[in-house]
Amino acid sequence: MKIIILGAGIIGISTAWHLLEQGHEVTVVERQPDAAMETSFANAAQISVSYCEPWANRDAPMKALKWMLSKEAPLLFRPRLSWQQWRWSLLFLGQCNDRAFERNVRQLVALGAYSHAAMKDLVADTGIAYNRLEKGIAHYYTDQKSFDAAGEAAALMRRYGVSRQVIDRAELLRLEPALASFSEHLVGGTFTATDESGDARAFTQALAAKCRARGVEFLYSHDVVALKCLGNTIESVAVRATSTGAIGQNDIKNVESVKVLKADHVVVACGSYSAPLLRRVGVSLPIYPGKGYSATFKILRPEAAPQVSMIDDEKKIAMSRLGNELRVAGTIEVGDYNLTLDSPVARARCRMLSRRIEQVMPGVCDTRAPEDGGNPNYWAGLRPATPTNIPFIGQTKVRGLWVNAGHGTLGWTHGAGSGKALTELMAGRVPEMAFNCYDATGKHSG
Ligand SMILES: Cc1cc2nc3c(=O)[nH]c(=O)nc-3n(C[C@H](O)[C@H](O)[C@H](O)COP(=O)(O)OP(=O)(O)OC[C@H]3O[C@@H](n4cnc5c(N)ncnc54)[C@H](O)[C@@H]3O)c2cc1C
Repeated sequence: MKIIILGAGIIGISTAWHLLEQGHEVTVVERQPDAAMETSFANAAQISVSYCEPWANRDAPMKALKWMLSKEAPLLFRPRLSWQQWRWSLLFLGQCNDRAFERNVRQLVALGAYSHAAMKDLVADTGIAYNRLEKGIAHYYTDQKSFDAAGEAAALMRRYGVSRQVIDRAELLRLEPALASFSEHLVGGTFTATDESGDARAFTQALAAKCRARGVEFLYSHDVVALKCLGNTIESVAVRATSTGAIGQNDIKNVESVKVLKADHVVVACGSYSAPLLRRVGVSLPIYPGKGYSATFKILRPEAAPQVSMIDDEKKIAMSRLGNELRVAGTIEVGDYNLTLDSPVARARCRMLSRRIEQVMPGVCDTRAPEDGGNPNYWAGLRPATPTNIPFIGQTKVRGLWVNAGHGTLGWTHGAGSGKALTELMAGRVPEMAFNCYDATGKHSG
């Protein structure tokens, strides 16, 4: 079959690879000049099957309210005159209870485990190098009350087959000696040995290159400007050979040099921009941008830098070593599609990342600000967030139109599996995992 994939992030490229493996003729359309140039570019690098709790939990509404005036808040809600944002927020509130939380965790663990296996197969088959470290993920705490609650979360995860262990400070330091200078602040942690880390951009770009070498056609620097249906069936995709980076506002009217592409099936994998694109053909999905930041620092003292990927509970940030650099990332801002790094909130959030790394492992990285001669490589990305943190993988109500989007905080972790799962669904098979794939008819597989 001829299949067009819209979007060349980790999700689109993984989908392309799996469809290619099944013998399909695949075209990828991407507005950027290369793969993984948007949200998959500089994330926290964690393959985190085990730390998959969604942001929506019973304490989130009160915390979000308390944090609304803090520029450095881990979860910052910035109200806009946007019906989509308010709808999303109401749905999010509906997930902030124990029953929904547990249901969502179960789904996320199932997809995570399936995806981890798919990722291992993919790496074995392709030999792609992406600064992978199989050293586990440690979550460290500086506050006794939060650490006490960590036991409950670990027990919940163990119920779903995740081996998250509660560890004391000594064990934490034994596992990751890079925390030594910060030891007096630590009260304990949790650890999952089976989690990993690695560079999502390097991986995605290498996989895209392999797809291309095996015959996938790539239309880079092409905007998708419209989807066209004939009755209830997808008929074509209109693309334009310029990159504006502004899909929400794109319109087929007044557009010159539009090319029309036809295929048997179309897959929307445009991350946060999937929702405005799909709305044009009457498919309404609650995917909204959750802005996050990262900083990538040059490591000055490799022997003192961490190997284990980590989560800092107090600041809700994650850090991973990528060769001779340290990536630190986190926080979520539910505002709009703005990617600026040049606003008071953005500057405060970026500075917080530098400050925290200097506090936790002083002198290990070059965290100096640009004005002091440093080069911290700040970045912002828009997580395609859903109220549950569960992505939409499946067939929409438009025949021939599929979606693979809404991976929120875990798109790198769930990337390989999401591509495989969609390929299975397109072949009429049910992916082997206890995960409810999206089905616009209201039925669920899994
Ligand atoms: C700060 C931060 C830290 C994170 N840390 C982690 C982590 O440690 N582990 C983890 O698992 N996940 C993490 N994530 C989440 C993960 O990065 C995302 O879920 C994932 O990258 C989403 O991939 P995607 O392919 O859906 O989206 P994207 O990578 O954004 O890809 C979508 C593509 O579609 C293209 N596109 C959009 N609209 C159009 C159009 N109209 N025409 C043509 N092309 C279009 C875009 O250019 C883009 O390349 C993090 C995210 C952030 C922001």
